[in-house]
Amino acid sequence: MGKRILPNSTLLKWQSDCQKYTVRLSNACFLKIKKMAHAHYPNEVGTSLVGCYSDNGFEASVLDLAPLSPDSKGSRTSFYRGVAGLRKFFMKLRQTFSGKRHYVGEWHSHPDAPPFPSQTDDKNQLAIAKDTNTTCPECILILIGHTLSSVDEIGVFVYSRKRGRIPLAQIYQSQDTVDSPTSV
Ligand SMILES: [Zn+2]
Repeated sequence: MGKRILPNSTLLKWQSDCQKYTVRLSNACFLKIKKMAHAHYPNEVGTSLVGCYSDNGFEASVLDLAPLSPDSKGSRTSFYRGVAGLRKFFMKLRQTFSGKRHYVGEWHSHPDAPPFPSQTDDKNQLAIAKDTNTTCPECILILIGHTLSSVDEIGVFVYSRKRGRIPLAQIYQSQDTVDSPTSV
């Protein structure tokens, strides 16, 4: 199968079986994730996700990554996402985009492992969804499983305050029907 070169503004799409939950990820973001994951191999790495939700809260667009906090710690099988500088980053983001871009979840890499949440991942992510201070009741987790010689696999999950973990599957669209921010 040939690789398609996607424009950076293209949004890749994932959806739950029930079709209620949709997550879109910009190709630019996907490339950033890939690049960081490979740069930190064989250790895990990750950051918070920046994006927006539809009015009903079930459709999310991931549009950017928060910076990697300097106090983050990654080993081969674990990752602690630091907090240094993040409060300031998200405050500034709110101001710049008049509240239209904000925190929507987390991503991290699974070197030499499938992009499936560990028990710790479930626990951390559910804690965020349930945290009323974060106000992210439908919190996204993106995992990238990869080896040194590439082969990237992406796992996308929504953690719902009410429903717990919901797996999403990638929806492949033909080039001419790929959603782009300008056509929405
Ligand atoms: Zn993990």
